[in-house]
Amino acid sequence: MLLTVRELELREIRFDRVYPGEAVDLGGTSFRSKQDLRITGVARLLPGTDEITVRGRITGRLEGECDRCLETSPYAIDQEFELSYRPAPLGPAEGEIELTDEDTDVGFYEGEGLELLTVLREQILLWLPMHWVCCEECRGICPVCGANRNRGECCCRPAAVDDRWAALRDFRPSR
Ligand SMILES: [Zn+2]
Ligand SMILES: [Zn+2]
Repeated sequence: MLLTVRELELREIRFDRVYPGEAVDLGGTSFRSKQDLRITGVARLLPGTDEITVRGRITGRLEGECDRCLETSPYAIDQEFELSYRPAPLGPAEGEIELTDEDTDVGFYEGEGLELLTVLREQILLWLPMHWVCCEECRGICPVCGANRNRGECCCRPAAVDDRWAALRDFRPSR
């Protein structure tokens, strides 16, 4: 769904859309979307400008892969958001654009308007944690055999401790 500036100049646009999970690419994160994601809300044009503000709510369920044991488990999303988008700055030929602090909270759109699916994807990426574990107690996978240690002990022994420095450790300088 394209939120066009032309239409927004006339009125605000209310939306309530469901996108199939496959349409939302979360590559580069530990998360995948396989189920429908819903985005509802309203888009407006900031009076007298080309800046589009989008406010709403995103609900759905992702699958997260644990950083330690690599098992996937559900990750629910139900959160409100508010984002602003400005027309993309023109190329360098028009002069360098200096980004101010304020601009870091602002996204950009190109052409006639803003694609709602882009809003959905970008907002979810902002919410996702950098690191994610299935639970604090997750014991991860055995570095030797690759077994999931949460499911029980494997038979691997811990690697032998390097003992070369033991002699130094016990060394006490004589006075
Ligand atoms: Zn885990
Ligand atoms: Zn093992």
